[in-house]
Amino acid sequence: MISLRENIDLVQSRIENACRKSGRNVNEIKLIAVSKNVPAEIISEAAALGLKDFGENKAQELMSKLDKVTKDARFHMIGHLQTNKVKYLVGKVESIQSIDGVKLAKEINKRAVYNNLTVNTLIQIHTAKEETKFGLDENELEDFLTNACEMNNISLNGLMTIGTFTDDEKEIRRCFTVLRNLRDKFSAYKTENVNLKELSMGMTNDYQIAIEEGATILRIGTAIFGTRSIVN
Ligand SMILES: *Cc1c(COP(=O)(O)O)cnc(C)c1O
Repeated sequence: MISLRENIDLVQSRIENACRKSGRNVNEIKLIAVSKNVPAEIISEAAALGLKDFGENKAQELMSKLDKVTKDARFHMIGHLQTNKVKYLVGKVESIQSIDGVKLAKEINKRAVYNNLTVNTLIQIHTAKEETKFGLDENELEDFLTNACEMNNISLNGLMTIGTFTDDEKEIRRCFTVLRNLRDKFSAYKTENVNLKELSMGMTNDYQIAIEEGATILRIGTAIFGTRSIVN
């Protein structure tokens, strides 16, 4: 049996240490507990221990948990999202972090207009060496923003990435640096709905590096909930 409390305490103290080491304020950093393959009861338990933000990478699974978890748990969509699932998530999730194209952004905006609300979003950027990861290429961001700056019911708050899955610290750091530099480059690109501040980066194997490189949102699953029985 894993001890949720011990895991959460350990992650939080490691976050604090990494902040101290890099001269950052721990209050600038939001922890999202990635709860894919974790049953609703355990999510509610984690919420009772103080975690409030949970990340899911599949729309279906997220939807199935909405009614089963405690009311104070908030969900973030962090995985690839098909346009035909958007309507189920708009109004139900705290953020959508995985916008990877104009078509998806348009659909989220359309549903947000329909529901008369604003959706918090991040743009996913492909920084890793692996071919299979989703996200815009670095050099596609400007075009994307030109299109998205007229979608007034989505708030584009920053960038998200998944670093290369490797033990090579330099390579991981490179991914996070790419994201930070891109955010800095476009930080002056402000419109009514675009203001890129957030950097969602850092998972169980690399969150300390992500903090050093400026992460404002960490997405941590395994270190909190233990090894998942189903591999994604
Ligand atoms: C699974 C997942 C995470 C968390 O990964 P861990 O290694 O378990 O911490 C973070 N972000 C995304 C997009 C994921 O799918």
